[in-house]
Amino acid sequence: MGVEIIMKNVGVIGAGTMGRGVAEAFATKGYQVVLVDCSEKALDEAKVDIRNITRFKILRTKDVNALKPDEVLENIVFTQELGLLKNAEFLVENVCEKWEVKAEIYPQIDEICPKDTIFAANTSCISITKIASLTRREDKVIGIHFMNPVEYINSVEVIKGYKTSEDTQESVQKILESIGKEAIVINDYPGFVSNRISHLMMNEAAFIIQDGVARPEEVDDIMKKCYGHTMGPLETADLIGLDTVVDSLDVLYDSFKDSKFRCCPLLRKMVDAGLKGRKSGEGFYKY
Ligand code: NAD
Repeated sequence: MGVEIIMKNVGVIGAGTMGRGVAEAFATKGYQVVLVDCSEKALDEAKVDIRNITRFKILRTKDVNALKPDEVLENIVFTQELGLLKNAEFLVENVCEKWEVKAEIYPQIDEICPKDTIFAANTSCISITKIASLTRREDKVIGIHFMNPVEYINSVEVIKGYKTSEDTQESVQKILESIGKEAIVINDYPGFVSNRISHLMMNEAAFIIQDGVARPEEVDDIMKKCYGHTMGPLETADLIGLDTVVDSLDVLYDSFKDSKFRCCPLLRKMVDAGLKGRKSGEGFYKY
């Protein structure tokens, strides 16, 4: 038996690459989830993806007690209305990695949600302290950097903002445990641990392609076969979404003003041309 669920209503904002995996992770454990996105298309695609995630997970784990795809979907309300988050006891925000978009959301949910609701920002690089400053509950704002794909990776990076309370951290660790995720807790600086390291590698891999040193397959093979990585940096960039990688590098560059984080022009050009990786069907590879 898993750990018992410790509250009922969970809000998830953003139904893109990450939000749909996060919604599934809670709904499959019996939480009632409200999944909000401003795009109807994203919500429709999320329904299809969540059904597939659940189906493949059951096949993979052979867990006879797991909720079936229809049961998981029954636990999720798909909506464009932020107002439906009014009963959320815990909320995970997964809108795109742009400060101006996140900056519009937090003051609104601060008004809508009960004053005790914990807000977890699933951001790649943006400072949790800066996000918390958009609310009047800075002690109840924390970072949870879920890993992609959410259903496969059971460890998450949890980031304490400057004012995140011990109570918030403890509650979040219990909530994560209830959905089978182990929290690795660290302090706040843009990019945290994972992306401050990984984005340097993905960016440099893109520079290697731009310089004509090797082809994507060769770059990824060297990191996999010679260094034992499970995925190469360019496959990883395609999985994350090249638009999100560019936005994250821009956040890192703006935050540290360090030229090591300047985004490779080839990456930006690919995004401008609509090559965003898996989500658009083409990035460094075709899907
Ligand atoms: P995405 O572009 O796939 O999805 C973002 C979603 O947010 C879209 O569906 C969009 O319609 C929605 N959105 C935008 N503005 C909104 C608004 N005002 N209200 C409601 N919905 C809105 O992005 P993603 O890859 O899912 O990333 C989401 C967040 O998670 C980002 O901050 C990203 O840095 C972070 N993250 C991404 C990954 C990854 O591998 N992609 C991993 C960990 C964390």
